[in-house]
Parts: sequence; structure tokens; C-alpha cells
Amino acid sequence: MLAASISGCLFALLMYPQDNSYTKRQITESIPIVVQEQSSDISNSAPPELGLFWKEQKVAKGDSLSLLFQRANLSATDVYRVSSSKSGKSLRNLFPGEIFRFGIDTQGQLEELHYIKSPLESLIFTHNNGTYSAQKHLRDPEILLSYRQGVIADSLYLSAKKANLPDKVIMELANIFGWDIDFVFDIRPGDSFSLLFEDRYIDGEKLSSGNIMAASFTNRGKTYQAVRYQNSKGLSNYYTPEGLSMRKAFLRTPLDIFRISSGFNLRRKHPIHKKIKAHRGVDYAAPRGTPVYAAGDGKVIATGYTKANGNYVFIQHGQTYVTKYLHLNNKKVRKGQTVRQRQLVGTVGSTGYATGPHLHYEFLVNGVHRNPRTVKLPQALPIAQTEKQAFTRRTAPVLAQLAEYQAATRLASTQGDNASAN
Ligand SMILES: [Zn+2]
Repeated sequence: MLAASISGCLFALLMYPQDNSYTKRQITESIPIVVQEQSSDISNSAPPELGLFWKEQKVAKGDSLSLLFQRANLSATDVYRVSSSKSGKSLRNLFPGEIFRFGIDTQGQLEELHYIKSPLESLIFTHNNGTYSAQKHLRDPEILLSYRQGVIADSLYLSAKKANLPDKVIMELANIFGWDIDFVFDIRPGDSFSLLFEDRYIDGEKLSSGNIMAASFTNRGKTYQAVRYQNSKGLSNYYTPEGLSMRKAFLRTPLDIFRISSGFNLRRKHPIHKKIKAHRGVDYAAPRGTPVYAAGDGKVIATGYTKANGNYVFIQHGQTYVTKYLHLNNKKVRKGQTVRQRQLVGTVGSTGYATGPHLHYEFLVNGVHRNPRTVKLPQALPIAQTEKQAFTRRTAPVLAQLAEYQAATRLASTQGDNASAN
């Protein structure tokens, strides 16, 4: 009963840091919000000059500058004057959804043209003695941290969706923990996650979600934690709170898990091979065409086709390790080629001895087959000694914040349980 009430308890909270200490404001040029006569979801513009009549046109597919000017009842001469001005060439590549605001005076003269490329970027053309000069306006979004947590009920993807996580953030979450957790085989109902990630806002409207700043994943009772850190060279990576890299030499799952796990049944078995004997790898049932990735950096030592293996790719990693990928639909690498971790090496198929599309994956240590799911892998690298101090200073507050939210929602859920028990 308890387990059921916890797994049914998904929190999706949006909280703002109260002291705004996290809020990044790097506005290069502060532009007041403009309330236009026409309501628009994009309000990025300079204040309209008084006494002008404003017309707005949204760029549609196939639109040209001439068409936009025509629809605003402006002439070919106007088009020419604007497009031949110094900044005119930035009007050559228009994209659907961009907005033009035409500020026209009582004589029909185009006094101002606001070319709004996005909520963050616009170009303002101003009339001056028959020519136009332009000024670029850039805005930086306000970045706020959002907290989410969830309990796995079905797949990571579906449970994360229920916790109101954007797709991009779900992918990043899986990438961060993909070195430690096999999201196909190791995930269990009751596993849980919580995370803090950036949301970008402009004028109170959400633009998009950004990076995960800290996250925690509990898989079969074991908790993994990760925190993002940007080093002094500007490179960002994820580390454990102790400063060990989350990135390891090998991925746990060498394929795109989201192609399998959206409808993935946790208890499903995979009777894939006709011949069970001498089965020395792991089989990942996946739709045909699912991308297969190199588990680690290495060199392709063999590719080809045999009746048993179907299309195959073998990769050597340093002196010690070899990984093998069988039954591929397509091979995407050649023998002798150097590959990077997570590089596409082929796609899932059912070539060779296979009753259905799946990836057969083998992991060899010094020529001996090992279970890729349990084999002890090379240790992760610690953060550089020179970065250690800065790392601790900058990541501790984020981790503390994550812990605070976790505790707050635990409390809320306990109180909720008590309430429902009464
Ligand atoms: Zn197999």
C-alpha cells in the first residue's frame, strides 16, 4: 500500500530561488517592454515612436521582403531604400515566424522598421533623409532554476513526462546517468529522480529549458548524484559531488534508449535468438533503424557480414577492450576508422540469426567475454586539482538547493499520506 501511494505521488513543482541569487542578468542593452496595439506573443522591440501608425507582418513560408512590404502597403522604392542600406543585407534570409513592424507617418513615409528575429534579437531601422540606419537590440533571458522529481512507474520517459519534464531535459538526464545506469535493463518501478534545471524566461514568458544543474537518480536502492560544473576554460561537464567525472570510458547502453523505452515493458523478456547456446552478449530489443552508438572511443577493427552475426561492427578500445555490435540493419563505419564515444556505428536490424530486430552487444576484456551489464569498468577521472576549490565553492550551493527541495517534497508527501490516512 505504501509503495503504491509513493509511486502514485509525482511532484512537479516550479520554484524560484527567493533571493534571486541564481538569477543571471547580463542584459547588454535594457529595452522597455512595448505594448503594441496588436497583441503578439513576441514583444521585443524598441518603444514605438509617437505619432506613427504601426503595421505588423509575420513572415510566412515563401515570403520575401517585397511581399511583406506590399502587404503593409509600402512601395518598391521603400523596399529598395531599406534593403540597400548598410544593414540591409541582414534582411536577405528571412525565416517563418519572424516579425516585421512598420512605423509609418501621416504622409505614408516608413519612419521605423522593427525586424524582430526572436524574442531576444531585433534590428531597428530608422529613417534619416531618404536612407535608413539600423541598430541591433539584444536581450538576455532571465534564467531561473526549476525543480522536478518523479518516481518511475513505467519507463523513464513516461515517468519523466508525468513529472512535467521537457523532452530535452529527459534526454540530458539519461545522458548524465547513462554511464552508470543501463536505462533499458536496470530501471525498476520505484526508481526515482530529482533535478534542478534552468528555464529561460523573457518578460515572464518561458522561452525554453536549459541545462540540468544538479540531479539525483536512485536505481534499485543506489543513489547517484551529478552536478554541472564549468571549468576555467569554459568547458562544462557533470561530476559527482566529490568531483569525479560522470563521463566514463564506456556507455552502459550502446543505443538510443528513447527509441525503445517509450513503450518499454519493464518485465518483458526478449526471446530473440533461435539458438540460445553460447550466448555471450546482451540483447536489446529495439525497433529496426534505432541508432547504435560506439560504447567508447576506439578504432573499428572489423566490419562485415556473416550468416550468424548478420551485419556486424567490432571496435577496439585501447589495448584491453573490444566491443561487438551484431545483427545491424546498416553499418555506418568502415574498418580502420576512429570513432568517438556515442558516435553512430550502425542501426538496429535483424540480419543473421535473429528472429526480430535487436542489438546483440558483446564486451570483451583481454579477449574474454564479459557481461557488459556487470563488468567492472575503468575508473572515472577526477576533476583537475587546480579546479577542485572552485568546483566545491560553486557546486555546493546548487547541491544544497537540490537537497532542500528533496526534503521539502518529502515532507509534503509525508503530510499528504497522513492526511489521506485520516
Ligand atoms: Zn544475442
